[in-house]
Amino acid sequence: MNGRSRELFLKAKELIPGGVNSPVRAGRAVGVDPPFIQRADGCYLWDADGKRYIDYVGSWGPMILGHRPPEVIQAISGALENGTSYGAPTELEVNLAKLIVEAVPSIEIVRMVNSGTEATMSAIRLARGFTGRNMIIKFDGCYHGHTDSCLVSAGSGLATFGIPGSPGVPADLARLTISLPFNNLEAVEVTVKKFGDQIAAIIVEPIAGNMGVVLPEEGFLEGLRRITRENDILLIFDEVITGFRVGPGGAQGLYNIMPDLTCLGKIIGGGLPVGAYGGRRDIMSQIAPDGNIYQAGTLSGNPLAMAAGMATLMILKNKEIYTKLEQKSRFLFSGLIDVAKRAGVDMVINRAGSMGSMFFGKDPVVDFNSVKETETSKYPSFYRAMLAQRVYLAPSPFEALFISLAHNEEILKKTIDSALIALKGLKNSLD
Ligand SMILES: *Cc1c(COP(=O)(O)O)cnc(C)c1O
Repeated sequence: MNGRSRELFLKAKELIPGGVNSPVRAGRAVGVDPPFIQRADGCYLWDADGKRYIDYVGSWGPMILGHRPPEVIQAISGALENGTSYGAPTELEVNLAKLIVEAVPSIEIVRMVNSGTEATMSAIRLARGFTGRNMIIKFDGCYHGHTDSCLVSAGSGLATFGIPGSPGVPADLARLTISLPFNNLEAVEVTVKKFGDQIAAIIVEPIAGNMGVVLPEEGFLEGLRRITRENDILLIFDEVITGFRVGPGGAQGLYNIMPDLTCLGKIIGGGLPVGAYGGRRDIMSQIAPDGNIYQAGTLSGNPLAMAAGMATLMILKNKEIYTKLEQKSRFLFSGLIDVAKRAGVDMVINRAGSMGSMFFGKDPVVDFNSVKETETSKYPSFYRAMLAQRVYLAPSPFEALFISLAHNEEILKKTIDSALIALKGLKNSLD
C-alpha cells in the first residue's frame, strides 16, 4: 500500500496497537499493509486512495444484503431521530426478539448483548450456573470470540486439559476447557465418559467458519445432541456466523437439530454492534432479573442497532433471498474450481450457502488438522494478486468468503476472471 492508506496506517500504528482495532485486519498473514476503507456501497468498498474493491469480507459476515441497503439505512436514520440510547426498554427490542424467536427453531426467549463474544461468554456462564458444573468442551479451530474460556487450545492427546491460547488467560481457567477435533464424535464420547458429570456444556460452530468453512460430517451434530442429552450437558450452538446466513433458521434449521442455547451476532445487527443468546425458557429464566445468574449491558438493545437488525431480518424473511444467495454462491465457487483446474492448481472448496472457503491442496478438509495441512503458503501471493485486481478477500487462509445479495453475476464473473489470472501467476511462480 502507498498513498493515503499508508499514511493513515503509519499514524494508526502510533495510536492503536498494531494500527488496528482487531488483529485480523492487519494483513500480516498475507504480507500487506491494510487498505484503509472510506466508504462502502453494495458489494464495493472504496479505500482512502479512492480505489474500489469487490468485497468478499462483508465486515466478516454481517453484510448479507450488501453495504448500505436502503431499508436498513432508513431504519437507522428513523431511530436516530428519537435518540441514540436510553438505558431503558424499547419496543424495538421486543420487535427484534420476536423476529429472532420466530426464525430460529430452538430459541424460545432471547437476551441482546453487544457482540458475539459477549453472547458466548454469557451463554457459557449460564450453562455453568444452570448445571452447577465448570468444564466445557469446544472444538479445535472453532472460534467463539475472545472470551477467556474459549481462548484455549488442547494438548496433543485426546481429553487432555486445555492450555491457555493466549497469555492472560489463567491456566486455572483454561484447564476447565477441553478442546477436541471437530467432526470427531469418538473423542467426545471418550471425554464425556471420563469427565461427563463435570461438563456444563459443549459449544460448537455447527458449520465451522473460523478455520475456513468446514462442514459437519453426517451424524456429528446428531451425535453431539445425543451425548449431551444422555449426560445432562447443555449443547450450545455458536451461530454468530451461520445465524441467518445459511438460512433463516441458521444451521440448526438446516440440519434440524435443536441445541439448548444458541449464540447469535453479525447479521442480526445489520452492521451495528449486536450479539444475542437465547434458547430454552427454563434455562434462560435463570438469568437476572428472573434468576440469579448475572449478565448486563449499558448499551444492550441499543435502539440504532435494534433498528438495523430489524430492518435486515425483515428483508431476510423473504426466503427467495436464500435461493438467490445459493445460486450466486454456487456460480462463484464452481467458477473458482473451474479456473483452478485450468490453471493447474489443486483446490478444494467447502461451502454452505453464501459462505465458503477455498483451500489449496487435494485432500478433503474436515477439521483443523486438515486445514493446517492445506498448502496455506500459497495464499498470501494469491491474496495479493487478487487485491491488485481490486478483489478484497479476507487477509488469512483460515477465513470464509461471504457473498451478499449485492454480488451480481457480472461481478462474480469478474472475480472468477481475476482468480484465473491470480492462479496462473501462482502456478508460474512455482514452476
Ligand atoms: C465473529 C464470531 C464470534 C465473535 O463475535 P464478535 O462480535 O466478534 O465478538 C463468535 N463466534 C463466532 C462463530 C464468530 O464467527
